[in-house]
Amino acid sequence: MTGSGADSAAGRRRFLPAFPRLWRRAAVVGSVAAAYDAAHGGGRAGTRPIGREDEQRVLREWEVLRDRLTSLARARLADVGDLLSDARLELPGGAESAVRREYDAALEAFQAAGKILDEAVDLPDLTASVVLADRAAELFAAAHARHEGRRPPKRVVRCFYNPLHGRAELPTDRATHGKRGKGGKGAKGGGRVRVSPREAAADRRPACSSCRLAILADQAPDVLPALFTVKVSKHRSAKVFVPYYALPQQMSLWSATGCGAYDDEAPARVLRGEHRRRAEGAR
Ligand SMILES: [Zn+2]
Repeated sequence: MTGSGADSAAGRRRFLPAFPRLWRRAAVVGSVAAAYDAAHGGGRAGTRPIGREDEQRVLREWEVLRDRLTSLARARLADVGDLLSDARLELPGGAESAVRREYDAALEAFQAAGKILDEAVDLPDLTASVVLADRAAELFAAAHARHEGRRPPKRVVRCFYNPLHGRAELPTDRATHGKRGKGGKGAKGGGRVRVSPREAAADRRPACSSCRLAILADQAPDVLPALFTVKVSKHRSAKVFVPYYALPQQMSLWSATGCGAYDDEAPARVLRGEHRRRAEGAR
């Protein structure tokens, strides 16, 4: 088996060591950090004028990222495709309804992942393709476990800042090894836990451990950027990087749904062409 989404996301990070550095540099020229602050209501989003050179750099970096993400999505789809065609042989026709439902949902997610990849315009589309392919593998693993009388694995909650980072570190994870109040074992009970403003900011969205650490250190996390056109003067507009989740929802199916990671309906929406209509409507 190819493995669950979380395992493959961890492997993916090792496979693409240049990604975080590229995101960081992108943040400098493309003002991802400033846009992150703006999206979070921060007051220090000092936007400087965007020159033509800045824009050229953004576009060059965008092309590199797009090519890498396209390869990543293709490879992931090929793996999950192998996984699902094996499953077709293994699942008997009269499989239990819950198993069948999960298996059908896996096929739907896989089909949607392929459709997004074919029609991808920007980095969040490619990311959504990977996310939905991972989701297909996850649903398949759940169907399999149920079919064998095992408990289906828990659904992976992904990092919101960049869903490619994989599993988010949840408060329950931290409770098992993190600090506890004076009450010790009573953390679940009435023990009051003091939360600093930075911790509150870090808890606002599900974040992987490295994005969470960045926010706790008052830095911008390694955000997945999207290309966005802004007006820089009366006669000129420019492409800049913004966090994918800062795009208006009427423009992007992915901004509010973590590239489909938080929306069970995402595969059906994609198959109905909603992602395309939103992107086209924004032009
Ligand atoms: Zn992250």
